[in-house]
Amino acid sequence: MQTAPPLSSVPTPAGGGSGALVVSIHDVSTVTRGRVDEMLRDLAEDGVSVTSLLVIPDHHHRGPIDQDSGFAPWLRAQVSAGHEAVLHGYYHLRPSKDGEGMATRVITSHYTAGEGEFHDPLFSEALELLRRGKEALSACGVPFRGFIAPAWLLGHEAERAVRSEGFAYTTRIGSVIDLENGLSFASRSMVYSVRAPWRRSVSLLWNEALFRGLRKAPLLRIGLHPPDWDYPSIRRHVLKCLRLAAANRKVTTYGEWLDQWRRSGHERGRP
Ligand SMILES: [Zn+2]
Repeated sequence: MQTAPPLSSVPTPAGGGSGALVVSIHDVSTVTRGRVDEMLRDLAEDGVSVTSLLVIPDHHHRGPIDQDSGFAPWLRAQVSAGHEAVLHGYYHLRPSKDGEGMATRVITSHYTAGEGEFHDPLFSEALELLRRGKEALSACGVPFRGFIAPAWLLGHEAERAVRSEGFAYTTRIGSVIDLENGLSFASRSMVYSVRAPWRRSVSLLWNEALFRGLRKAPLLRIGLHPPDWDYPSIRRHVLKCLRLAAANRKVTTYGEWLDQWRRSGHERGRP
């Protein structure tokens, strides 16, 4: 579980505007495509017909997206329908390193199940992964301009590499960052933790409280993962929140939202 931010750090809408809703589906890959299809159908039924799809080029070394004949046409069809492709790591695995301290091991192994691939790579390592990722996603024939690190763990050197590779934006769990100028928009994402029964129980309570707390926030972010759909209680909660939110918010993608934020002169975005 993540710790709660002070809700006062979340900007409130100016002039009572109804705000935006961005749903992101993390870990879209050749391994999860069938499940993601199911999620997209359910979301569309509840008013969410566009999402940001966070694509892993070679999920746990189990299937490169540019070597799977069905993946690229599928992704192109989603993007044509209004979804956005976003680069999300490369393998989504962090290689364990010799001599690392206990704190690092706890963060990267326990908290993220060893998936913090961009938590602490060297600049050159991050650059290499990003370049290969851009190549693989480009080979699918879709436009993309965002990079979001696995588990939102983006270390300093990795962030520098993301900027130098020309990505327009990234997100963290508590913010959306315009990489052109470093401006950060405070916005806490809802996200579910489903790995153990106690996590699921706490997650439902926490996300319900967060959803209520963010009722008037200008941007509501909901981050979903394919395993969320294994649990009916989680699925029901997500869909309930989406129905309510989609009824009076503009459903959009991170890329479109960023454009709108830029047009507004990055209002309320200064850190
Ligand atoms: Zn992920």
